Order: sequence, then C-alpha cells, then structure tokens
Amino acid sequence: MLLHTLSTLARLHELNFSKAGETVKGNLEKKHCESEISSEILKQYHIVAERYGKTALVPIQKNTCTGCFITQPRTGPKELAPGIYQCTHCRRFLFSPDDLL
Ligand SMILES: [Zn+2]
Repeated sequence: MLLHTLSTLARLHELNFSKAGETVKGNLEKKHCESEISSEILKQYHIVAERYGKTALVPIQKNTCTGCFITQPRTGPKELAPGIYQCTHCRRFLFSPDDLL
C-alpha cells in the first residue's frame, strides 16, 4: 500500500497524544506502528513531536504549512515518504488531507 507509512504515522501520532495511547493496548499498538515506520522517519518524527507536541503532524493547505503558516517553496516541501512531507521552515510533518480519506 502506497500510503501505508502515512496512515501508520497518523495513527501513532493520534495514540501519542490521546488517552487511548496510555493504556497497555495502546502502548502495544504504538510499538507495532513504530515497527512499521523506517527508523529515519521515526527519528525525525520524535524530534518534531518533542518540539511541537500535538501539532507535529499537520495538514498542508494551499501549499502552506498549517503549523507555522509559511508557504512552501514552489518546488514543494521535502517528501520523506509517499504522502509525508516536511515543512521547509518549522520541520513539522505535513500531509495532504486528501491522502488520509
Ligand atoms: Zn511549518
């Protein structure tokens, strides 16, 4: 599945910042999600999650990061994995809302 990393990361992010992620079951699911994501992306994710918390993963709208509201260069933000981008300004993880439908 092309966008598997994105949906797994979105689920991991949801668990990290919700009560569901604090349960034994939630922790197991987090471990499972982390095992499905490449270590390089996971490393970057943990850095931004520590810095920005819940807004470490935000949608991109009209080529603008909805975390820092900086418009991305015309060449676009850096694509880390299919459907996962990184804001060139604040380094938050970005995704297109259409990709998660
Ligand atoms: Zn940004």
